[in-house]
Amino acid sequence: MTQSAASSTLAFEVTRRDDVTPADRIAAVLENPGFGKTFTDHMVVATWTADGGWHDGQVRPYGPFQLDPAAAVLHYAQEIFEGMKAYRHADGSIWTFRPEANAARFARSARRLALPELPEADFIESLRALVSVDQDWVPAGDAGEKSLYLRPFMFASEAFLGVRPAQQVTYSVIASPAGAYFSGGLKPVTLWISTDYARAGAGGTGAAKCGGNYASSLAGQLEGAEHGCDQAVFLDSSTHTYIEELGGMNLFFVTKDGRIITPELTGTILEGVTRSSILELAKELDLTPEERRIPIQEWKDGAASGEIAEVFACGTAAVITPVGELRWEGGSVDHRREGHQDRVAEAIRARLLDIQYGRAEDTHGWLTRLV
Ligand SMILES: *Cc1c(COP(=O)(O)O)cnc(C)c1O
Repeated sequence: MTQSAASSTLAFEVTRRDDVTPADRIAAVLENPGFGKTFTDHMVVATWTADGGWHDGQVRPYGPFQLDPAAAVLHYAQEIFEGMKAYRHADGSIWTFRPEANAARFARSARRLALPELPEADFIESLRALVSVDQDWVPAGDAGEKSLYLRPFMFASEAFLGVRPAQQVTYSVIASPAGAYFSGGLKPVTLWISTDYARAGAGGTGAAKCGGNYASSLAGQLEGAEHGCDQAVFLDSSTHTYIEELGGMNLFFVTKDGRIITPELTGTILEGVTRSSILELAKELDLTPEERRIPIQEWKDGAASGEIAEVFACGTAAVITPVGELRWEGGSVDHRREGHQDRVAEAIRARLLDIQYGRAEDTHGWLTRLV
């Protein structure tokens, strides 16, 4: 059931709500948006059926879906999502970062979960349609790190308990103003090595952005929290030897001799757009990028010996987050010494944000204007 990735076919018909949020209320939300708790006035919805393909694209008032209790997603988790941001530049225009990469990943995730592909042009047009209508919710360009977080997602809405790919699917986009993902700025996080739990296994869905991966990472996260850690780092599920990633972020290691290393894509790691962008930016920052399998022992040894200078996690929501201590059952290690600075993490973070907010020239052609 593959849909050809043809050109744009969907039009998004706009129905505005008449009780839009007043400007002073929006201003109050944008003052301190937090993450993922307030949503804009509208949402995108489109439907796919096996007979009719994609149709009925709408921008309509934000509100609950009417979902049959037998909707397949509630039973068999046939669901995928994306995460991106809309940034307001100093001249008031609104842009997004590498949406073609998110559209391509959404299509790959769809294939893995036996969902229909949404053509790239429709994906990008859906973002444009929603952000145009809700543009007052995009924080001002002088707002530092604030943005409008965009969450496209797709799920099996057919009411049927038989196990097969759904013949009715819903696509939607919601939007939520976002401040810094981790409150308290660039505070290093403490990570827990999860050995009892894996988030993904060979042949599974680890490379797809689907809710099920997040559900399976929660027990490991909880175990980490019980040991005073902020996040869990997952290892490969077959040998428990190699570093994969966090529940929702990729990992990078910076060595004292100027290499920047990230786990290679083995099929169980999510290919982050931030990860790919950092690999491309590395050379501009005089760093040598390396993608390979990284034994967890290399982290422990490198942190102890000083070979590892910095560790950081990355993803759209939090951009770049330095990692401090690493803990496991019966031990811990910390690469930070007296006077430690996350120089590389901060330089990459500043570079990415400068491009995203239009403060630096977009030499890679990474930005797409939405409004
Ligand atoms: C979304 C996600 C990331 C980060 O991807 P970006 O495209 O950089 O936001 C990393 N790991 C997992 C498991 C994810 O779901």
